[in-house]
Amino acid sequence: MTAQPAVSPQQAHEHHTRRHPTVPISQPTIVTIDGPAGTGKSTVARLLAERLGLDFLDTGAMYRAAAFIVLDRGLDPADHDEIVEIVADADLHFDWTTDPPQVLAWLQPMNDRIRSREVTRLVSAVAAIAALRRHMVRKQRIIAHQHPRLVTEGRDQGSVVFPDAAVKFYLDADANVRAERRAEQLRAAGKPVDAAVILEELRRRDEIDSTRTEGPLVVPEHAVVLDTSELSVEQVIDQLESLVRSRLEKP
Ligand code: C5P
Repeated sequence: MTAQPAVSPQQAHEHHTRRHPTVPISQPTIVTIDGPAGTGKSTVARLLAERLGLDFLDTGAMYRAAAFIVLDRGLDPADHDEIVEIVADADLHFDWTTDPPQVLAWLQPMNDRIRSREVTRLVSAVAAIAALRRHMVRKQRIIAHQHPRLVTEGRDQGSVVFPDAAVKFYLDADANVRAERRAEQLRAAGKPVDAAVILEELRRRDEIDSTRTEGPLVVPEHAVVLDTSELSVEQVIDQLESLVRSRLEKP
């Protein structure tokens, strides 16, 4: 006798839809996720967006693209005017047909070039340039205008760019845990890893990001703070998802 499947495909689909229903299309919804590096923000933001049926914006990719341009063009990191002028000329924007959306400069996809060690080392210094931040904030608001149902992730999304967002999150984690997560990602990618150097670079990046004058990394007003040190990605997404749904379903 053939065993009957416990759950039919139809039931499985209904179960999935019940568990991961999408927010009604008509509802413009901005969800912001801020926090330091290595809290799992990007992964969480991308998957949360998928579950909620929203678009996903990785604002770090824009600052990374700017840092890449500085390196690639051999620009002087101290010449802020030139950096802003050339980055503006690059007309950074996203290709929304890829998953996750890919950042483009001068219409060219940046791909993994924005994830290199050199870019990671330089990015916080470039992201501290006040005029460059104002340029990025403008672009991010235009993106939100075009994609009004959005999970956006960065350092200043809830505090500066979208202070009126429907739901704001701040993800944090112990620095050692964050450094270990980065080391694990690099190991998985077959790259050489020095855990002490990773921790040191992460702390330096946090320091620059938290102390700059324009758009520093802060816990935004009314943000829900979640420490992810002891949580799996799945657990974090589950918590964020149910919180967003309960907020949006409020009469
Ligand atoms: O998130 P990710 O690690 O890719 O961000 C790279 C860098 O971009 C951060 O360390 C920070 O300096 C900068 N950034 C920022 N504001 C944002 C997003 C990223 O300053 N909204």
